[in-house]
Amino acid sequence: MTVRTRFAPSPTGFMHLGGVRTALYAYLFAKQNNGQFILRIEDTDQERFVPGATEVIYDTLRACGLNWDEGPDVGGPCGPYIQSQRKDTYLPYAKQLVESGHAYYCFCSKEEIDARKKAVEDAGGTWKYDKHCLSLTKEEVQQKLDAGIPWTIRMNAPTEGETSYTDAVFGEMTFQNSEAMDDMVLIKQDGMPTYNFANVIDDHLMGITHVMRGMEYLSSTPRYNYLYTALGWDIPTYIHLPTVMRDATHKLSKRDGDAYYSDYIGKGFLTEALINYLALVGWNPGTDQEFFTLPELVDAFDIHRINKSPGIFDVNKLEWMNTQY
Ligand code: GLU
Ligand code: ZN
Repeated sequence: MTVRTRFAPSPTGFMHLGGVRTALYAYLFAKQNNGQFILRIEDTDQERFVPGATEVIYDTLRACGLNWDEGPDVGGPCGPYIQSQRKDTYLPYAKQLVESGHAYYCFCSKEEIDARKKAVEDAGGTWKYDKHCLSLTKEEVQQKLDAGIPWTIRMNAPTEGETSYTDAVFGEMTFQNSEAMDDMVLIKQDGMPTYNFANVIDDHLMGITHVMRGMEYLSSTPRYNYLYTALGWDIPTYIHLPTVMRDATHKLSKRDGDAYYSDYIGKGFLTEALINYLALVGWNPGTDQEFFTLPELVDAFDIHRINKSPGIFDVNKLEWMNTQY
């Protein structure tokens, strides 16, 4: 098996240090196994799109030496995969899920959903899409499609039972389906896949063997696993990473100017020092070695030594390390 990892950022802001570290670990793991590291821009949510954010991702990865391995030929070096340019890839899979009963067409308008949601919330409940359109017959669905009523495709999520999986860092994870699952939209009214759906389809099509991402996705993973299984696909190995924090209780924040790669480069820190230090935020080499070049990190990195507890990014330590370069 060839190890294939990916970095799959949504271009919604700038390069967060947590994102740089995710990319770094995914790169290190791929390279140490003579595998490939893929870059995929997850930009199907056009409303959240921030102009310029994609270029920042490329520039940051290149500056850090985290060169990605493949992608469509864009008339020069390979570009990354860009989901909005692969828009037509996803619908056939959604239709396949409709056929097999794992998904269904939904014709509810936003107003109709809002009204039902309000009624549930006014009664003190928590809203989840109520499977309203699941009861439509095949003929009714076809009539509505023929009539040109706008539609989405939703996942037909299980409401009972539980889903378990093993995460390489966090171990055995179990979620109640009633809590972890919902009938999330797979294809939106504009024909674009949602981020959740495109993520699963592309991880499979791109042959990703090891999915590394922030631990905030631990609880979404049961939904992804449901899709993999429904499509008859193997579930990748999951390596969720602990959050990069300023200290035990504070996240790095945009407002404090300590969240982004550019915040540090702007203050004169060296990329090499930053990468060296970031590698150690959440990973323990198990030796006294503190200074690593990127190739040395490729050799030394060990996913079994990734910590479960949040990685504390101590700017004083970074400052010290920077003076040694
Ligand atoms: N597009 C997601 C993000 O930027 C990626 C999640 C994943 O790696 O699966 O957070
Ligand atoms: Zn509906």
